[in-house]
Amino acid sequence: MACILCATDSFSEIGEKRGFTIVKCTNCGFVYTTPLPREEELIKATQKKASNFKPHVSLSRKIRYHFFASRIKRLFSQHDRIRLLEIGCNQGNFLSAIKSDKKFVATGIDLNSAALQYARSQGLHVLEGTLESHNFSSKSFDVVVALHVIEHLHDPIRTMTEINRLLSEGGMLITIVPCVTHIKARLAGIKWKYFGPPSHLWYFSPKTFALLLEKTGFAPVYSSCFYNRAHLKTIARKG
Ligand SMILES: [Zn+2]
Repeated sequence: MACILCATDSFSEIGEKRGFTIVKCTNCGFVYTTPLPREEELIKATQKKASNFKPHVSLSRKIRYHFFASRIKRLFSQHDRIRLLEIGCNQGNFLSAIKSDKKFVATGIDLNSAALQYARSQGLHVLEGTLESHNFSSKSFDVVVALHVIEHLHDPIRTMTEINRLLSEGGMLITIVPCVTHIKARLAGIKWKYFGPPSHLWYFSPKTFALLLEKTGFAPVYSSCFYNRAHLKTIARKG
């Protein structure tokens, strides 16, 4: 399979995992899974995995989400209200953290029906399905949050292009993905915990995530993989 970022059909193999091969594009350095499973299979596997859902709320995560919400409000300090969409909201822990804040009008989407049922019981506005299945109106959100989501998508370029369409002018996308150039990933090699096809399909570095942003009409505002965890955190503006 050719690289989805630069269309080069030349790669080196990093290793095998669960019947899939992890490869690195010889042109742009993007690391990805081949062969790419069918989208229906991925959605079915995600839903099956989600069926043994149990609600879980940790205090440390709650605190992190409050800081995260404050950061979003600083980005939109001129706005009276912030229309927010969280893709992959799961049971709605982040949406719960902003529920009582009148500045946010928040929506969540996820594939996990049990988690969404729990989110609804907490008074959250959440919808089931993929982003593309909802066909939201253009420019209907000011910020889209996708934490640990992009690496699971069947077609990240299609979904990021759709996110771009949904954002208002100057709207922001905030993401976290595993960072394949982090020291932990370099030391672990093929044993790195995030090399997990078919759940994880794409393995970004700051450079290759910037390529994805450019290809889908975003301009980076902030990007860093300099953490104790191998996470690449990015804020990007609709270009
Ligand atoms: Zn490439």
